[in-house]
Amino acid sequence: MHTAMQMRDVEAALPQSVVVGVVGAGTMGSGIAQVAATAGHTVLLLDARPGAAAAAVATLRAGLARLVDKGRLDAAQARAAGERLQAVDDLERLACCGLVVEAIVEELEPKRQLLRSLEALLADDAILASNTSSISITAIAAALRRPQRVAGLHFFNPAPVLPLVEVVAGMVSAPEVLRTLLATAAAWGKTPVLAASTPGFIVNRVARPFYGEALRLAGERAAAPATIDAICRDCGGFRMGPFEVMDLIGLDVNLAVTRSVWEGFFRDPRFTPSLMQQELVAAGHLGRKSGRGFHDYREGAGPAAPEQEPAHPLPSRIEVLGASAAAVALAERLAERGVAFSRGPGDGERIALADGAALYLGDGRSATRRAAESGVAASVVVDLARDYRSAPRLAIAPALQCPPQQAQAAAGLLQGAGYAVSRLADTPGLVLMRTVAMLANEAADAVQQGVCSAAAVDTAMRLGTNYPLGPLAWADALGVRQVVGVLDHLAAAYGEDRYRVSPFLRQRALAGWNCHE
Ligand code: NAD
Repeated sequence: MHTAMQMRDVEAALPQSVVVGVVGAGTMGSGIAQVAATAGHTVLLLDARPGAAAAAVATLRAGLARLVDKGRLDAAQARAAGERLQAVDDLERLACCGLVVEAIVEELEPKRQLLRSLEALLADDAILASNTSSISITAIAAALRRPQRVAGLHFFNPAPVLPLVEVVAGMVSAPEVLRTLLATAAAWGKTPVLAASTPGFIVNRVARPFYGEALRLAGERAAAPATIDAICRDCGGFRMGPFEVMDLIGLDVNLAVTRSVWEGFFRDPRFTPSLMQQELVAAGHLGRKSGRGFHDYREGAGPAAPEQEPAHPLPSRIEVLGASAAAVALAERLAERGVAFSRGPGDGERIALADGAALYLGDGRSATRRAAESGVAASVVVDLARDYRSAPRLAIAPALQCPPQQAQAAAGLLQGAGYAVSRLADTPGLVLMRTVAMLANEAADAVQQGVCSAAAVDTAMRLGTNYPLGPLAWADALGVRQVVGVLDHLAAAYGEDRYRVSPFLRQRALAGWNCHE
């Protein structure tokens, strides 16, 4: 029922005449107050700390004036929005609100108590919303007389800038409450998605493999963090690599979210936290805020360079095989650079031969396994790129038994096509293919389990985490069968439940459907 709900039912939005209350005048509460006031509501801001709400209103007014200076807001609109923001000291002042959003401390009991007090003050049809990132909306609402009037309204930081809002349905949230919040968030200029109250909701759950697989790869010494970051950026089109993002968020904060999702799912191995990250947190290496995390931000330290192969000579014999996107792009890039090569028929696996080295497209098998299965020691696996035509870098892994000259021939071929080449220790799924497959797997499980729709998970990850593509759209572009194959190979290689395939993907692969059908 929830997923069928219209997201842009403008009729259902709260009219501007409805007074909005915001409790908690910290980072998020201030941002939410600004959004609601700019959208035309009178906003009453309250904080338990004396003077905090008034200080927040003053800061917000100054911020609105700065937006006028930058030409992002009309002066009259800014003044009006500033006047609509009012600090209050007493909870009773919120009695006139039609919607109250709480953004107080992230603990269940204080949130429950606050909502219980508010419920006693407000009209029966008022909506109580929580901006919690990790607490069950069902649990927050459970102690109330009207739990059906409670839902999550989860903004992202900074709330005035980031477009995504997760509207979170508790077990008994009323459909009209959800509809009103979806429509109101849209009227406030946000893109709302509907999620069921489950650990991490959509974004904080589905993003876990982006960090988790990177941490695993670094922990297994497949590559250094700077190399994994460069592969995600250059080959995947992510704005930042996973270690850069963790350094920005704070390793302690990122670890706490991972722990909470892991505990929330009864320690599902998909979400197992990383020992390496835990050690860094224990050492106080928390990322940018402490000067060091995975990368070094101290005075004089430059950004770490990714591991990259030195220039190797062009192989004397190059054959590009088949018509996969990777092979076609490779042939085009070689031709553009005047490199001589021949074309050969594809076998669905190898994309090129270079002086006896066979280059395989990654399918979750390690190069060593490829070599063992094919009997060709000189096997090299090439990692995924979102667009092989324009990618500046490719990652490769030669089999353990691959002779050094042939590993160099494979790198020389790709360098001849203009790619920077990062050589990884041979690891199943390599970096990007493994990351994309695991993101799609988590997104698929969220859909399978009724947390959200396929469209919502893609929208949430594009807008909430800036991914270049939604994970399910990415799986469709790669082919669902291919993604399932990668996960099956990872599960076989590690023998761990972590890589089990979501039934949503398995069924679609069998039916020949994509994720959005
Ligand atoms: P914050 O510490 O910046 O602000 C919290 C404010 O609430 C403080 O000013 C505090 O004085 C006040 N407060 C605490 N208990 C109160 C109470 N009982 N009554 C009234 N005021 C009270 O925290 P924040 O980062 O703004 O987070 C607030 C909520 O938003 C949390 O639930 C958090 O999980 C969630 N959230 C945070 C982020 C983020 O990136 N910071 C993102 C999304 C959601």
